[in-house]
Amino acid sequence: MLYIRFKKCLKKILPLDWYYKLAFLKENIKGEIWGLLYPGDERFCPFCGKSYGKFMPCKYPYGITEKADIISAQTIDNLTCPNCFSKDRQRALYFYFQQKNISFANKKILHFAPELSLYSLISPQNPAEYICGDIEPKAYSHISQPVRKLDIINIDLPSDYFDIVICNHVLEHIEDDIKAMKELFRVLKKGGLAVLLVPIGANLEKTYEDASKITEEERAEAFGQSDHIRIYSEKGYLERLSSVGFAMSAENARLSPEEIFKYAINHREKLYIGDKN
Ligand SMILES: [Zn+2]
Repeated sequence: MLYIRFKKCLKKILPLDWYYKLAFLKENIKGEIWGLLYPGDERFCPFCGKSYGKFMPCKYPYGITEKADIISAQTIDNLTCPNCFSKDRQRALYFYFQQKNISFANKKILHFAPELSLYSLISPQNPAEYICGDIEPKAYSHISQPVRKLDIINIDLPSDYFDIVICNHVLEHIEDDIKAMKELFRVLKKGGLAVLLVPIGANLEKTYEDASKITEEERAEAFGQSDHIRIYSEKGYLERLSSVGFAMSAENARLSPEEIFKYAINHREKLYIGDKN
């Protein structure tokens, strides 16, 4: 809770772009130190080609993350590449795109909350159009193209337009997630695909939501992260996406145990992909 208060306080006193630049600088320094502490070649990042003895871990102190067994939003060793900050789920997507021969060349792509690793993969492939968007564009000073201010529940872009929409670990932050899902479906072209990963509570039968949890502290206790407003069950998540029109598939990374270890991929995390048929 102290950490949440410290971050809130820092966000209030600093201009927003400074706050995010400082946060990124902190990650860079942490990554540099990590690289010195854990040299080696046990773990390899396919995005940046760097090897380490270990990747950086992520720790969630809230009991709910273990109780609900929230895949990919609980304490994970070997989560983040210290050099390019790719996470296990993005490394899984790297191989998914490769195995499915998904190319970004000449495609129209919409990328919400753009992850640096995926951005670095997509951008050099010369997409026909590549729009990166977020409700808080100032959080993305590390992305070399301008990030557009986009509200996911009212996307200011044409219908049936994009070949690929990427929106990972966003919907669990959105109050009206069904409206957001409808918007993601609307902007996607017929025959297009949407990459829609979220954290899933493996122990949950139903999606857990509680509108009475308002403050960051309450949400952290209830949902495991101060800016999450629900924990999806897999069934609940897929039902919502299907209800707005997506034909969903959910599969684990198709890699050998040795590859899962080498690339530090969370073998339990499924890749949720929506098609617009
Ligand atoms: Zn990397």
